[in-house]
Amino acid sequence: MNDTQPTQYCGTVAIVGRPNVGKSTLLNAILGEKISITSKKPQTTRHRILGVKTEGLYQAVFLDTPGFHKNTPRQLNRAMNRTVVGALEEADVIVFVVDCRKWTEEDDMVLLRVNDQERPVILVLNKTDTLVTRDELLPIIEKLSQKMSFAAIVPLSALKENNIAPLEKEIMQQLPAAPHMFGEESLTNLSDSFLAAELIREKLMRHLGEEVPYAVTVQIEKFEVSDTLIRIAALIWVEKPGQKAIVIGKHGDMLKKVGQLARLEMETLFEKKVFLHLWVKVKSDWSDNEQLLTQLGYKK
Ligand code: GDP
Ligand code: MG
Repeated sequence: MNDTQPTQYCGTVAIVGRPNVGKSTLLNAILGEKISITSKKPQTTRHRILGVKTEGLYQAVFLDTPGFHKNTPRQLNRAMNRTVVGALEEADVIVFVVDCRKWTEEDDMVLLRVNDQERPVILVLNKTDTLVTRDELLPIIEKLSQKMSFAAIVPLSALKENNIAPLEKEIMQQLPAAPHMFGEESLTNLSDSFLAAELIREKLMRHLGEEVPYAVTVQIEKFEVSDTLIRIAALIWVEKPGQKAIVIGKHGDMLKKVGQLARLEMETLFEKKVFLHLWVKVKSDWSDNEQLLTQLGYKK
């Protein structure tokens, strides 16, 4: 590098926190595009999601992570926890997200993990839109600032996209001097077929009843791109025949609805017409089956 080239800043930013505090919603708000799926149910994010944000000389590479789970006997949960630990080890900056309304035991567990990382930790107090007045924030900030030495504490609403810019500024300030890893226009390193599978999974999580979503995963069988359209065939795996019936719904209504909603979002994301074909298969105990987990990309 010679002195006519200005220094670039680039680093990895891990977004961590217990399930359901709004990590994926926050990443989408920062990127201004949906790459990480969200829902009211914990465990919506299973994989590590990577998003890129470039502002002039600054480039932040975000890792969205599944919420850290305690008491996790199932293979899938253990694989998700390993994902979180891996992201923390890689990160140059840690964004620790909590719900501003309540601090829980699970938050304490995350705190333990981030506190010994010797990396700047920015605490995000999310969901400020749920507070009645801003005055409620001050005592919360005061109390939480005692927990450890945070690089910054930023109250915001990821959902309402309120106060996102100050967080971005804090993150960019913490990035180390390093050449950019991605082109300026890059948004994610995830493949289109992965994003398609995730969109289908999101619709299933949002529209199915209580016990089914945890048993569901999506595998893309075909992803054919032509000039004008994309043909996608996806297989929805469930654990039991009864779940298959629920996913399909009466006269196929549920599958049709899920397919339609997913297809519309895919068309926005890919800027092309999409033909989506879905079908459902039963694979018993898939979430405890190491081999299938590997095949579906949950493990390396
Ligand atoms: P994650 O598990 O931490 O990734 O959480 P998600 O991003 O999937 O969000 C969990 C739930 O919280 C979803 O229903 C979101 O719509 C909701 N949520 C996220 N951010 C906010 C926020 O700023 N305000 C409110 N009221 N809800 C939010
Ligand atoms: Mg998530």
